[in-house]
Amino acid sequence: MAGKKEKAKARKAAAAATKTAPSSTSSKKSINQIFFPPGYGSTQTQSFKYFEIKAIEGKGLGAFATRPIKAFTTIYHEQSIMTFYKDRSQVSENDLIAAYEKLSPQDKYTFDTMRNCHGMCGCKGGLFFANTFGLRGGGVGCFPNCSRLNHSCQANCMIDTHEEYDEKKITVLKDLKPGDELTFHYVLNTQFMTNEERQELLTSEDFGFVSCRCQVCTLPPADKFISDSRRQIMRHLLYWIEGADLNEVPPASLGPHPGDLPDMVLASHILLFCHLAEAEGVVVGSRLGTSFAKLIHFVIFRAAMKRVRQLPERIWNNVQTWWKRAQFYGTGGSVLDYRDIDLFNTVEDFISCVRDDGEINWKEFQNPLREVTENSSWSELCLPLRSAQIKVSNLMRLFG
Ligand SMILES: [Zn+2]
Ligand SMILES: [Zn+2]
Repeated sequence: MAGKKEKAKARKAAAAATKTAPSSTSSKKSINQIFFPPGYGSTQTQSFKYFEIKAIEGKGLGAFATRPIKAFTTIYHEQSIMTFYKDRSQVSENDLIAAYEKLSPQDKYTFDTMRNCHGMCGCKGGLFFANTFGLRGGGVGCFPNCSRLNHSCQANCMIDTHEEYDEKKITVLKDLKPGDELTFHYVLNTQFMTNEERQELLTSEDFGFVSCRCQVCTLPPADKFISDSRRQIMRHLLYWIEGADLNEVPPASLGPHPGDLPDMVLASHILLFCHLAEAEGVVVGSRLGTSFAKLIHFVIFRAAMKRVRQLPERIWNNVQTWWKRAQFYGTGGSVLDYRDIDLFNTVEDFISCVRDDGEINWKEFQNPLREVTENSSWSELCLPLRSAQIKVSNLMRLFG
């Protein structure tokens, strides 16, 4: 049971939260309409195999590693306790009440003690929407433990959909030591936004942050400038590479799209994107791995077009480095589109046909890519891959 002091603290925090809530929800309520479910504001520590969920000073609950964890370990699976197979905007308070009545007593308790984004509000929506993730086939599910992870603009975890339709998994993206806080991107797009743009998004009605105080948002001004510049350039590069700006964030002034880029320009944009992403410590999901694989795809294309029999040492070294990066980023916890899988297979096949000294055994490389001519265009070949990328980025939008 929480002590008197903690209860008072929880009430205070809830009162503070309503101050920042949108005006539509902070309409006048008499004190006896304010509803505290039993266990509300509970600060009990919950332990799992790799982490624990516990209260932290000034931040509410968070998840912390309890043992060293290697990058790309999947550390947790969670089943939705309440699922709706429709758009989140279509889920009504009545739907929520009806679904709530069907929960087991244990799940009811879990539901009632989740964070409520409406503060002291008695509605089910405040609880549900603060702890909701989008599902792969559309629809929304409620994941009480996954939602305990706090947001960071440079997250060390990703939460994505498991093979099961309404199951989420947490995958660690970086090596972690005990005590490290587990974080994820509430919105993946924050990876390509400046500090100012992120604050604007995260303090909007949908998220209700007072401000983001993550490790990137609290950098000293000079470092913040570097981080902002990297993210801004990455956003521009993505726009040029993929042909579309980020979804569901205010559009940046990116100017008219130049159309298909010359092959060499496209490849160098991708290379620059990879370097900036690694330097900034962002880009979760399959995008970075896929980008490294595309660089190798470009080498294969050029080599086939020029009928190269042996890769120069420098290029062959690059290919091997890029392949390590592609596998590192591309295989862990990612939603790989089937066309991405084709890309990875093509690249792997090619590498198996290259001898240690860079000599290419073209006969063994049974791939249509072998047949390209001087008139072929890599960017045209990549077009289906590019639209797949956009689809993947759609899929990966989390938290609504
Ligand atoms: Zn409410
Ligand atoms: Zn931040």
